[in-house]
Amino acid sequence: MKLTDIQVTSFRTTTRTHPTKWGYYQWGPERETVSSLTAFTTDEGVTGYMLGGDQRTIDAVIKPLLLGENPLDREKLWHWMDQHPGINEHLMGWVDCGLWDLYGRMVSLPVHKLLGGCRDKVKAYASTWPNMGKPEDYAEHALACKAQGYTAYKVHAYIHWNPYTWEPGPQLPGYPEADIEVCKAVREAVGDDMVLMLDPFGVYTYEQSLWVGRELEKLGFYWLEHPMIETRIEPYRRLTRELDIAICSPEHAPGGIFTRAEWVLQGASDMCRIDVGYGGITGCYKLVMLCQAFGIQCEMHGGGWTNTHLLGATPASTCEYFERGLLRPDADYELPAPYLKAICDPMDGEGNVILPTQPGLGFEIDWEYVEEHRVR
Ligand SMILES: [Mg+2]
Repeated sequence: MKLTDIQVTSFRTTTRTHPTKWGYYQWGPERETVSSLTAFTTDEGVTGYMLGGDQRTIDAVIKPLLLGENPLDREKLWHWMDQHPGINEHLMGWVDCGLWDLYGRMVSLPVHKLLGGCRDKVKAYASTWPNMGKPEDYAEHALACKAQGYTAYKVHAYIHWNPYTWEPGPQLPGYPEADIEVCKAVREAVGDDMVLMLDPFGVYTYEQSLWVGRELEKLGFYWLEHPMIETRIEPYRRLTRELDIAICSPEHAPGGIFTRAEWVLQGASDMCRIDVGYGGITGCYKLVMLCQAFGIQCEMHGGGWTNTHLLGATPASTCEYFERGLLRPDADYELPAPYLKAICDPMDGEGNVILPTQPGLGFEIDWEYVEEHRVR
């Protein structure tokens, strides 16, 4: 089998996220945007798909490298892409996911069964939108999530946002006192039996992280995620040594599995973290296995179709939770994107996500919508 073409289809859709000048984004009124999906076709009639994709980049560096190759040689192609100076880890990760989808569709099995089936469902935490309101708004939302069956809730408090002026801002300074007020309100609302986490998205200094960690320990939080900018390993090593609460990082450190191997070696966090933007399903699975061998958790960043498969192929002792969200009270998360037939993460009422059973990554494209909204 040979890859014969890689073609992107672009189409109009809508979003409620708006970029800010600080490089972050905020929630707002619905606006039009362009989405895409990519088809990886072969000479044997098998096609794999991946959501997203940019034709110009694919034409420039991916097609010259991959066309004519066997798409089932994912490991070889992963190393080729990793060694290519013009291909970054996000692009290679995205291609890798498309190749996994192709293999799954070819043999009519979900990717998690191909990786090594382990679970049909996985515990989820409700992951909030940042800057969602005042502490009482978070408390009310956490209670609603608890009523929906969630057993765990992760707070994104004030990120790239000044909670006192209610305006966007740069990543630093963070507002640790305001963040802890949110955490206190949530703990008070949901009681002691709900698992809680905080993700400040790198907005703190070392001293602020230490203070927040100690406050969270008093509130019985499970983990403190990505408290500081992740390009500096040493403050993470000190923080992990000082605090009892688990530090869950690095989420965004460049270098994929190789950087994270260094974090593990240095004891720079208690739990590791990655997503398919850092080397794809193949890269993430390598890290999951590394973490398993070292006896530490690897908590997957974000939800989405790709993560459902990584979680379906790993035990809860290595990858405990599925990040479900981002959630907010005024958005219906249970509705699929208009170009897809279903969401990737339906729940069972007891706080678990039911993993996909369809072939490949599992998404079914609404081709009628895509055709109607196609951008030429
Ligand atoms: Mg995070």
